[in-house]
Amino acid sequence: MSDSAPTGGTGGIQRKLRQLAELPVAQLHQVGPKTERDLAELGIESVLDLVTHYPRRYIDGTRLESIADLAPGGKVSVLARVTRVSQSSSGYGRGRRRGPSRVEMEIEDESGRLRVVFFNQAWRAKQLPVGTVALFFGSLGTYRDAPQLNSPMAEVVELAGDESENGEGAESEGGERRGRVYPVYSLTDKAKLTSVRISRIIGEALDRAKDFADPVDRSWRDRFGLVDRTTAFNHIHRPATMDETEPARRRLAFDELFRLQLALVLRQARLQRDARGIPHVVDGPGGAGPGGDDEAPGLVQQFLDRLPFQLTAAQRGAMDAIRSDLAGSLPMHRLLQGDVGSGKTVVAVAAMLTATQGRHQAALMAPTEVLAEQHAEEVHRLLDGLTVPDPATLEGHRPLGVALLTNRSSAAERAVIHAGLADGTVDILIGTHALLTDQVSFSSLGVVVIDEQHRFGVEQRAALRAKGRGVDGTGRDPDLLVMTATPIPRTAAMVVFGDLDMTIIDELPPGRQPVVTRWLRTPLEAEEAWSRVRHEVAAGHRAFVVCPLVEGSDRVQATSVVAEAERLAGAELAGLKVGLLHGQLASAEKERVMADFRSGALEVLVATTVIEVGVDIPEASVMVIEDADRFGIAQLHQLRGRVGRGQEAAWCFLLSENEAPEPEARLSALEGTTDGFALAEVDLQLRGEGTILGARQKGRSDLRLARLIGDQDLVVRAREMAVSLVGEDPLLGAHELLVEELRIFIDDDEAEFLFKS
Ligand code: ADP
Ligand code: MG
Repeated sequence: MSDSAPTGGTGGIQRKLRQLAELPVAQLHQVGPKTERDLAELGIESVLDLVTHYPRRYIDGTRLESIADLAPGGKVSVLARVTRVSQSSSGYGRGRRRGPSRVEMEIEDESGRLRVVFFNQAWRAKQLPVGTVALFFGSLGTYRDAPQLNSPMAEVVELAGDESENGEGAESEGGERRGRVYPVYSLTDKAKLTSVRISRIIGEALDRAKDFADPVDRSWRDRFGLVDRTTAFNHIHRPATMDETEPARRRLAFDELFRLQLALVLRQARLQRDARGIPHVVDGPGGAGPGGDDEAPGLVQQFLDRLPFQLTAAQRGAMDAIRSDLAGSLPMHRLLQGDVGSGKTVVAVAAMLTATQGRHQAALMAPTEVLAEQHAEEVHRLLDGLTVPDPATLEGHRPLGVALLTNRSSAAERAVIHAGLADGTVDILIGTHALLTDQVSFSSLGVVVIDEQHRFGVEQRAALRAKGRGVDGTGRDPDLLVMTATPIPRTAAMVVFGDLDMTIIDELPPGRQPVVTRWLRTPLEAEEAWSRVRHEVAAGHRAFVVCPLVEGSDRVQATSVVAEAERLAGAELAGLKVGLLHGQLASAEKERVMADFRSGALEVLVATTVIEVGVDIPEASVMVIEDADRFGIAQLHQLRGRVGRGQEAAWCFLLSENEAPEPEARLSALEGTTDGFALAEVDLQLRGEGTILGARQKGRSDLRLARLIGDQDLVVRAREMAVSLVGEDPLLGAHELLVEELRIFIDDDEAEFLFKS
């Protein structure tokens, strides 16, 4: 790198990220073998790793004060050397019952000395031995009339005894640094590095790199208000003032989001380029009605005509979008988002029937057995009596074939299903990930629906789709509909599901009343919940009681639910017919319990979260969730969605005595709204993006600076630019720099897939 300094002129040499990725840190003058090892501890091996090791935060050195000028009563920041350290446990008590530990120090700058005390931070004595130079930031109080800094933040600027190695004393450091902004970097205990040291090393890298090649050209930058990349790297690592840091962060965050969107949009384009889709017959001829005439409406139309309700506008909109996807020759990749109870199932069934009416098959995969069984039951009920044309039969048609396949299916059941799939008499296959096994092979898979996507990985989605091509690869690519009942904010969805088109059902069927939600904080208040349960049951309705999450195996959980059900049956729920549902029950037993609860033979169902997804009992009008603080927002919202599915008023009671800030925020949010999208925003704020991104983006493609909250505009812009570039230049032939960067940040398999010609 040192050999190729800019040659002057207007341009100079523009560093590419790939070059920096190939350059080991040891090439820097300041990095000897020891520092090289220390940097490796932080995961920094190349110069690219180094310059993308961004500051965690900054200390505004433009506000540094001299010790002599400090006035007690406010926040102060000083840069000073530790001159004395003592450690003690305060006097009272003996042995194990000793009081809090206390580390006391004296620190000094050129203007004076100051006492610093840390309570219960014994490790500070080790972190800040005599001779260390550090930035101290905290509130200045007084103790026995002398100023004293109480448990401040302390950031080591220079290690004790480090002067000789770096050839700079603390005073000169202080002098040089005053009036600047100090970046603070993540460090590990193992590595004997300080933020200042890292900052100097990065400084050398930036000095020698000088100009960065910028894949976002001037016109896009101007449009989006982004600084150029060279400025961004410099300002994020060595800002002159705090004002420079945010524009720099935004620019580099944009790059992260842009690379991600580019990969997603390319993936979409790639899939389409290779696709052998099925142009479905959307208004096709139906199963023969009783008369068997050709004029009979198609299967989808028959299905819709039989529904006992009017579709909502949002459902119609979703169906229109899906219908035009299905009619097209490119396979659909669509995400259907909709709140709990918004009626996604009928939309999905209509999509599956579209496949059926063109003599193709459909598959629906759900994340749990309970949900798969329930879907199967519901689909049976919705489609009961419908027939499909079949010239091989005497009547010229046969009943629509719906089958359920889970891990519980017996070998004999499987054999029947496999045969039906092969000869095409199973029209719709519903199941869990058991659908993915090799033995499951379709004669012509036309539509794939995946419910509750967040529980499946991208690979599983692809694996089910791939069944369309069949073992010999001669088949075609089915259309894919992914449904999720855990809404996520729109821009977050762009990040997570950016390779899918998106449809949102933003409307509940008419007449739904929002579930009245109450957080009850004491046993006395909880009486309101139990009396509501008795009242509702007396009125002929049903109630759920959700038991607390307990740590431990399924068996431990089951034991705890059994105990709680027994307790309740003898106390709060005495005299009511109480049933029990948990994951350890045998299938047949589960089915029996659900059937009894549906019929009213059981009035109250005490259950674990197995009821979280999909359980649909319109008569259920009240839910009590014990120890509600142990559940997350999304889970509580799902659980609550099990009641209020009919036209009548419904209640959800959250029992919890925990009023700590975090649970308080969660429970209050649920009390405050039944809008799943609004709750998703709150959840995102409370828990951060990690929960949404999860393990989906691994390794280098990690979003380091981009935030899902706050950078929504950047997500939208990154998407816009990615769509525009790929639209003009699907292989990015004219954007070599971008291709190169993507290859650095995405894994090899993905790159292979995206760029193979
Ligand atoms: P989701 O899967 O989105 O949570 P479902 O599809 O299970 O919602 O629908 C919830 C309930 O509402 C079901 O009982 C369904 O039959 C009913 N439903 C669906 N669409 C409508 C509608 N347009 N009007 C009235 N009820 C509807
Ligand atoms: Mg449903």
